[in-house]
Amino acid sequence: MKASHSFRARKRLGQHFLRDSSVIRQIIRRAGFEPDAVVVEIGPGLGALTFPLAESVRQVIGIEKDSRLTEILKDRLIEKGIQNVTLVNQDVLKADLGETARPFGGRILVIGNLPYNISSPFLEKLIQSREVVTRAVLMFQAEVGRRLVASPGNKQYGAMTVLAQYHARISPLIEIPKEAFHPPPKVKSLVVELDFTRPHPTRAGNEEAFKKVVKAAFSHRRKTLINSIKGTFSEWRQDEILLGMEKSGIDPKKRAEMLEIDDFIRLTDGLDCFFDKARASC
Ligand code: SAM
Repeated sequence: MKASHSFRARKRLGQHFLRDSSVIRQIIRRAGFEPDAVVVEIGPGLGALTFPLAESVRQVIGIEKDSRLTEILKDRLIEKGIQNVTLVNQDVLKADLGETARPFGGRILVIGNLPYNISSPFLEKLIQSREVVTRAVLMFQAEVGRRLVASPGNKQYGAMTVLAQYHARISPLIEIPKEAFHPPPKVKSLVVELDFTRPHPTRAGNEEAFKKVVKAAFSHRRKTLINSIKGTFSEWRQDEILLGMEKSGIDPKKRAEMLEIDDFIRLTDGLDCFFDKARASC
């Protein structure tokens, strides 16, 4: 899909439009959406993914922040007589995906060639919306995509990896070269699938605490776990943190990047008394 001549791409909205039709076909094929699927597309832009999607699923809801694009795409959809696409002119970070899903039985799929600057907040939003989003197929800057699929011991493995892999099974689908876009971005992209119907099998007793512990553990990558945890929760007593770590069988001298998701779950359980509001300490 070529950008309209009268249209100037806005950098701050991450406007890099897919123009390689074989890449577009590949993304739609690998997404594997069923014909009766209801798919929410994030940032449809000029419709590179929207048109082939509309042909292959029941309903598409496009959420686009740039009103100029919503208008152009609306006209193009009318021109082609496409009736199963609804466009919403909105910032997706402010959208309520639960409300979006309600008319369709409360379950949606998500696809998006994401503007790079909203990757992290959008991931958080998706995780919060996991009750209604069954699966998401998203294109990220390759480095962010690799972080999502990283394993322990790898330098890309971080808090984002652990929190995302705790809530969804994540698989890399396709690497996309810069030349597939207009204008081309500075880096390669990676399409990743997040399957929220297959979360990590072991669950934390207190998921809010789990999130805080994971973020604290990775807050200072070069420090040991005990120092990172102490650094974030300065009001906690060190001897009590050490006792909690001993209880969970986690070596306080390890670094966060060596811990598996199950280790973080055990660590959170070992420190759970700190999160009990009724107690000042453990
Ligand atoms: N899907 C189109 C494609 O593949 O050619 C466009 C992808 S472009 C990388 C990102 C799109 O997201 C742009 O259309 C941009 O205007 C839109 N966008 C940027 N920030 C947004 C936000 N917060 N909410 C919704 N759409 C956004």
